[in-house]
Amino acid sequence: MKKILTVIGARPQFIKASVVSHALAKRPDEIEEVLLHTGQHFDANMSSIFFDQLSIPKPRFQLDIHGGTHGQMTARMLESIERIILDEKPDRVLVYGDTNSTLAGALAAIKLHVPVAHIEAGLRSFNMQMPEEVNRILTDNVSDLLFCPTETAIKNLEREGFCSKPITMLNVGDVMQDAALFFAQNASATIESKPKGDFALATLHRAENTDDENRLRSIINALNHIHKNIAPVLLPVHPRTRAAIQRLGVELEISVIDPVGYLEMIDLLQSCSLVLTDSGGLQKEAFFFRKPCITMRDQTEWVELVEIKANTLAGADEEQIIKSARQSFGSTIQVAHSPYGEGFASEKIASCLAK
Ligand code: UDP
Repeated sequence: MKKILTVIGARPQFIKASVVSHALAKRPDEIEEVLLHTGQHFDANMSSIFFDQLSIPKPRFQLDIHGGTHGQMTARMLESIERIILDEKPDRVLVYGDTNSTLAGALAAIKLHVPVAHIEAGLRSFNMQMPEEVNRILTDNVSDLLFCPTETAIKNLEREGFCSKPITMLNVGDVMQDAALFFAQNASATIESKPKGDFALATLHRAENTDDENRLRSIINALNHIHKNIAPVLLPVHPRTRAAIQRLGVELEISVIDPVGYLEMIDLLQSCSLVLTDSGGLQKEAFFFRKPCITMRDQTEWVELVEIKANTLAGADEEQIIKSARQSFGSTIQVAHSPYGEGFASEKIASCLAK
């Protein structure tokens, strides 16, 4: 029996963990999973709603660590996670993605000589200004089991010399695709504020956009223009973005709602005619539901989607965002097969972790 301590803390990690924890739970004789929630995301609509909707087991350890600088947050997590690892003595620590919770979990484990498995390994934006890029590179480098979602991720690791290290890296496909397909088929929810006709779905929360006044202003101008001239724009707004917009004092003319649960999000994705986002997860989800996507960033880790023209990189350039929205609104994405696997990533991960 292997004991796995899974460290999660932010919204996308709850969604990814929902399918992986489910796959691990199907192996009760081989794996015991202990969940640790750092508390990085803590609002009900950023955290508990996902545990309720997606039937994620209640974390055995619930920390309350959020806010402060990156250093402060990561340091506090490191200290608490270390204590839990010493008490629980897991055989392995499992982390997801690229948040401060990811890095703190990985670092606490490796310093205690506990092996680390990283889900969503090998992704790169090649922009070290992004906190996520720093977190994912450091986490990959202390992991010995690297579960990559794409061939591109494998190639990134090969280029960084991972082939010559005593590690295992596998292209298992994308766990977010597993989640999107599973919950689209097995659960449904809708929200009253969903526009009746065609609309564009937007999300915005990356620090590079929310913490830069010029970029934020330019993106909001573009969204306002699209709302007035192309189709209504619906923005479930991230708490960080809401605060940044208030600080900036810029007027939002689009429809703004509080963050929604994952099932509502799937309904919005299925109903919309365009996705505008700076989220990593949303770029792929747009593709899973074959909706065109405009990414309001200068780089993306999901380059496959740009190559097959399912995704347009528009940066924070107002004109470029509007032009791309005009071009792609309502278009359909046609591809023979998904670059993200066949929807069995979590099963493959569970089987590998059981060995
Ligand atoms: N999401 C959600 N409700 C929202 C906004 C996003 O459930 O109001 C989901 C979205 O569908 C995706 C995930 O949250 O699965 C993406 O998380 P986020 O954009 O916060 O992080 P990123 O993917 O950029 O790391």
